[in-house]
Amino acid sequence: MKNLIFCLSILSLICCLYSCTEDETITPDTATENEISAADDNSPFAGEDRTCNMEQQMIQLMSDPAYRKAHQAKLTRLEGYATERSATCTNPAVLPIAVHFQGISNPDAACLRQLAISQIAVLNADFQGNNSDITKWDNNASSRFPGISNGDACLEFCLPTQGHPAGFNLAEGEPAVTINQTNGDNASQWSGYINIFVRANLGALGYSPLGGNGNGDGVSVDANAFGTGAGCGSVNPGSPYNLGRTLTHELGHYLLLDHIWGGNGGCNDDDEVSDTPVSNQPYYGCPNLGASSCTGTDMHMNYMDYTNDACMYMFSAGQAARVEGYINTSLQHVIAKGNVVCGTVNPPTATCTDGIQNGDETGVDCGGSDCEPCAVAPTCTDGIQNGNETGVDCGGPDCSPCAETPTCTDGIQNGNETGVDCGGPDCGPCAETPTCTDGIQNGNETGVDCGGPDCGPCAEAGICAVPENVMSDVTGNTSALISWNAVNGAVRYVVRYKEAGQNAWKNRSSFTTERELSNLLPGTKYRYKVRTICEDGRSKWSTTKTFITESGSPTDCNNNELQFDLTLDYYGAETSWEVFDEYGSVVYRGGNYPDGQDGFNVQEDWCLKDGCYTFAIYDDYGDGICCDYGEGSYTIADRDGNVLFNSDGYFSYAEYIDFCLGADSFNSVQNRKSTKARNTVKKRIPGSARE
Ligand SMILES: [Zn+2]
Repeated sequence: MKNLIFCLSILSLICCLYSCTEDETITPDTATENEISAADDNSPFAGEDRTCNMEQQMIQLMSDPAYRKAHQAKLTRLEGYATERSATCTNPAVLPIAVHFQGISNPDAACLRQLAISQIAVLNADFQGNNSDITKWDNNASSRFPGISNGDACLEFCLPTQGHPAGFNLAEGEPAVTINQTNGDNASQWSGYINIFVRANLGALGYSPLGGNGNGDGVSVDANAFGTGAGCGSVNPGSPYNLGRTLTHELGHYLLLDHIWGGNGGCNDDDEVSDTPVSNQPYYGCPNLGASSCTGTDMHMNYMDYTNDACMYMFSAGQAARVEGYINTSLQHVIAKGNVVCGTVNPPTATCTDGIQNGDETGVDCGGSDCEPCAVAPTCTDGIQNGNETGVDCGGPDCSPCAETPTCTDGIQNGNETGVDCGGPDCGPCAETPTCTDGIQNGNETGVDCGGPDCGPCAEAGICAVPENVMSDVTGNTSALISWNAVNGAVRYVVRYKEAGQNAWKNRSSFTTERELSNLLPGTKYRYKVRTICEDGRSKWSTTKTFITESGSPTDCNNNELQFDLTLDYYGAETSWEVFDEYGSVVYRGGNYPDGQDGFNVQEDWCLKDGCYTFAIYDDYGDGICCDYGEGSYTIADRDGNVLFNSDGYFSYAEYIDFCLGADSFNSVQNRKSTKARNTVKKRIPGSARE
């Protein structure tokens, strides 16, 4: 559920950027600034509020459907990660950082390296809770937040001095710092690292993806908000953002921490971290303790707020747990890279069998002049992986070629793997590890099985079984509710019904385990049955049963029995609809629907009194239901199937159809499209004239 909320917050964030510019902004009481945090007049940031373009960056990234899917997969993996944290950090995840200065005139390389080292030291102190000003929390601020602890993530950022990628003229022993050798915010040669791009005149203090990938991506930071101290020429930390905390904030984003106010603002918008109090919007400068914008005390001293460097000094324990969860579920390849380039695992060195007997050899033995004589010649099948074998997978001069060809999927991450991907240190980074049940069928699935194109058919018996316990509940003289038990593996269900003695069945689908049948005839016997639809097929029909509607005369909707037909696009979860009466009350609604059901047809029956109505259909992402991800559309027809209104599904956030019913007519049809997210229909005062 957290995922979903998070996803919606991203979507609503995107919607907002397009649609809510008219929203009023309520400025919280930011109180006075401390002298310590006021900008020097000489600073390039004198009088400027903190800025961060993470949200704009995410809008751009999330416009790519493949990125959206991969992002969702990361959240799904995080959801499955145990949130219990160890009390002590005995084996911190080591994350390699590469710093790339861009556009530097007359660079002083030695100075820039020291500046990078000062920045990494700040990151380690802040993420580990070892920053000297944590005393402000311990001695003062924490008393305002009973039961909430500051966070100390079990990780270590490292500036590697070995194993650098080729092409950057970096020698062993030099730190992973490049000057004027990269452009923009990506350096694919530095995949496996968290990259920091230090750039002049960035237009914001920094930006980052929300949840980085370790594939050459990274965070960008303005050249005047990087590092601490006196700076190096044009890379010169400027107050009040001169304590290195712009990167603490941006790296928080990279490790999946949202802004503490949740991004969209408002007291109902959360940052997905349970122990950070809800706040309405950012704080700037240096607010007084105790400021509140919603119900509780706001944590404006959190690194994920917008306060000055000197006035932010803590992560919460929940944020630390989320960071740990993210790196252990989606950045394992970065940890693996860190184990190599940060020195916790020795890089490969010469072997005794390389033909060069220079004293550097490693391994059990090989008979070289600097090695012990071989007591026993190692073989590929000796079960000892001692680093001497070469060849396809483990053979060497002393071995015959190995028969085995381990793959990335053998579960053994020993550096010999071939194949696409597995997440081990010697395989390419895993972009995602989808499961068979994630709805993404791309050949990488793991898990039991689900019958997608890249998964085998499900071995489990009964996965598309006939629904059991099918029953009816007559709910009036024109309606009945059909229900049944859930079937494992069901995508949806079909209810089929007809008047007894008639031939033509009507089908109605359901994504749940019940379905209301309406617009029935009073005092009439009906037959009905239900079947399951699965990913790969469908079950037989359940045994046919009957019900009899209550007697009485149909009243309200005589002649106003409408049929609504909706064809979904791929992103059914973005689609919903409502029918309002002329007083603004909802009389029917439907959706949201599952994703991945593009082309599927939803049918609903409406029974409407004479009067005027508004039909509204919404797309939460703002791209309608046609035609980028499937050809969604809908029609409204009368009881005989005559189409009264036909939509091409092409709208942005919403489309509204105004119509009136009465005396057998469907008239005054007016079509309005809206670029605003869910805009409630105005209530009319009963009895007043229609506009
Ligand atoms: Zn930010």
